[in-house]
Amino acid sequence: MLKPGSTIGIIGGGQLGRMLAMAAAQLGYRCHIYAPEADSVAAEVSADFTCAAYEDAASLARFGESVDVVTYEFENLPVAHLAPLVGLVPVHPFFTILEIAQDRLKEKSFMADLGVATAPWRAVDDQAGLEAAVAEIGAPAILKTRFFGYDGKGQARILAPGDVATAFDAIGAQPAILEGFVPFDAEFSVLLCRSAAGESVFWDAATNVHRDGILAISTVPPEGIVAAQAGEARAIARRVADALDHVGVLTLEFFAGADGPVFNEMAPRVHNSGHWTIEGAATSQFENHIRAVCGLPLGDPARIGARVTMDNLIGAEADDWAAILAEPGAHLHLYGKDEARPGRKMGHVTRLVTVA
Ligand code: AMP
Repeated sequence: MLKPGSTIGIIGGGQLGRMLAMAAAQLGYRCHIYAPEADSVAAEVSADFTCAAYEDAASLARFGESVDVVTYEFENLPVAHLAPLVGLVPVHPFFTILEIAQDRLKEKSFMADLGVATAPWRAVDDQAGLEAAVAEIGAPAILKTRFFGYDGKGQARILAPGDVATAFDAIGAQPAILEGFVPFDAEFSVLLCRSAAGESVFWDAATNVHRDGILAISTVPPEGIVAAQAGEARAIARRVADALDHVGVLTLEFFAGADGPVFNEMAPRVHNSGHWTIEGAATSQFENHIRAVCGLPLGDPARIGARVTMDNLIGAEADDWAAILAEPGAHLHLYGKDEARPGRKMGHVTRLVTVA
């Protein structure tokens, strides 16, 4: 067990790191952020900051020696360069799960081995491979890059035969998978936190609405088809976490359709669809992640209030901060980012509905 006062190293400098560091501070820990970008919103609320490339072995070694445990808030990390950290300091979650989660091909194969339903898929390495995959899977389908996909980036939809000619170039002519389109009634995510001792706690499954490939709204508790499928999805998430001996928060995203939950993707980290837990649950995803990586007992994930919604503030939406502050019961979070570029996650607002 890592005692309060110890230092937690967090790789990645964005808002997830910021909210992890704030939860860690509440429990008396110090955080040391490691990120390549100088304007890190996580570093702004942390005791120490190393601004260096993920490939910078000397800086990574100094970072590893200066902290008591390492975790990460970002999954597009070059694991081969970070691997030496493992000899210096405990790293949670283990990099093995990161290697699976950051590669859509490994992720899909791993789920197939576990018997988990996914969209039909084929690996695509070139234009001829794409044509063969479309012939097998049919349209509509989505071509997704194997690596570095997030918020719907690195994806091209194949709706008509003509799209086959342009899709591979549209994603930058790189290794990809083609996924058949899953008809769904809703999208939802399951978040769990697992301790090193193998105990898992689950928050309510969140129903998620995306706009332009970016999460817009998460709502709990689940209703309708999501409520009906959340139990099976939790069982899948538990199997994944146990199979990988996961430590910390793990997020799995699903499509809820006529044939039951269909796995979409996973993230071995705290997740945007769990931001509602800061005010909406007895213990937030951020606090429980810190508890898990420090070897502390996990906290109660129970929801507070009859209904909780979380709205992302994307780009200029964050300009409405004064109106949100004036709203009774609205909890405003701004991430401290300078520039409100379109599509950039600037903050979020959580609203709790309590029943008298
Ligand atoms: P992803 O980055 O893979 O989560 O994709 C972003 C969004 O695109 C998802 O949240 C879905 O709304 C949609 N999407 C992705 N893959 C599929 C699929 N195979 N079938 C239907 N919709 C999809």
